[in-house]
Amino acid sequence: MQNNVVCSIENLKVYFPIKAGLAQRTVGHIKAVDDVSLAIHGGETLGLVGESGCGKTTIGRALVRLNEPTAGKIIYNGQNILELKGDELRDLRRKLQIVFQDPYSSLNPRQTVRRMLSEVLTVQMGMDQKQALERTGELLAQVGLSPAYAPRYPHEFSGGQRQRVAIARAIALQPEFLVCDEAVSALDVSIQSQIINLLMDLKEHYTDMTYLFISHALNVVEHISDRVAVMYLGRVVELSETEELFGHPAHPYTQALLSAIPMLAGREEREPIVLKGEVPSAGNVPPGCRFHTRCPYATERCRTEEPQMRECAPGHFAACHLLK
Ligand code: SF4
Repeated sequence: MQNNVVCSIENLKVYFPIKAGLAQRTVGHIKAVDDVSLAIHGGETLGLVGESGCGKTTIGRALVRLNEPTAGKIIYNGQNILELKGDELRDLRRKLQIVFQDPYSSLNPRQTVRRMLSEVLTVQMGMDQKQALERTGELLAQVGLSPAYAPRYPHEFSGGQRQRVAIARAIALQPEFLVCDEAVSALDVSIQSQIINLLMDLKEHYTDMTYLFISHALNVVEHISDRVAVMYLGRVVELSETEELFGHPAHPYTQALLSAIPMLAGREEREPIVLKGEVPSAGNVPPGCRFHTRCPYATERCRTEEPQMRECAPGHFAACHLLK
């Protein structure tokens, strides 16, 4: 794995106002992402996991400028992308693509796949019509669909096939960075592995492409990621290379998530760790360690002092007071 940093997320905060009353005054904030710093290496696949509402999707959307952050920086290839406008922003949007969970809502139902892809290729890649049609066929073949499907509309495909079309549209622009936001979560398990295999094959083809693979399922992330970042309530609480994280989880939250996976091939079974209660609201984050309301090991210190990320093994970071 390369270790050149292509994207550096620095102290990122994305807050959404909570409005109340007739005058719709701001009475608080949902802290969807609350001071996250993360370095993503060129050519790697970084898995970003956590329960629903932990902020992982908000980070993915901020990266492609679909959410405007409240504070912080996102440095991509030396430029703070949050400051880009006009042509520079358009250029960035070509380089950073996103594949969503629900391909049906992200594809135009009134356009055939041929029209959808050839429009992207002519308008954004400057191809003439003949080149665009040829490339459309190649793209469909590359994502495992017959080029004969090009005249079809999105509703004529199955869920897995539609996700393949969405991936074809994303790679049509030859992106440098692909955000996969719960890209397989809505699919049947057998189809999930096909799409993951497709993404891994594309990675072998486009060797320089970097993936941010967002999912709530650790077992899905394990297959595709070089490193994994675990999020809880707006913060990254653990970050490590995949094998190290799955073999030696350091944060009690990661340990609990892993213990909930029934069988991890080749790994010893773990004692199940049952977390108490629900994830607190991001509009009312607990003081101290934000995991203390559910952590089986919480102490008095955890209720008042927020733990910082520290390196517990080479390249393995976690935020917990119990770590030496
Ligand atoms: Fe649990 Fe305390 Fe560690 Fe937080 S700091 S994960 S509450 S032991």
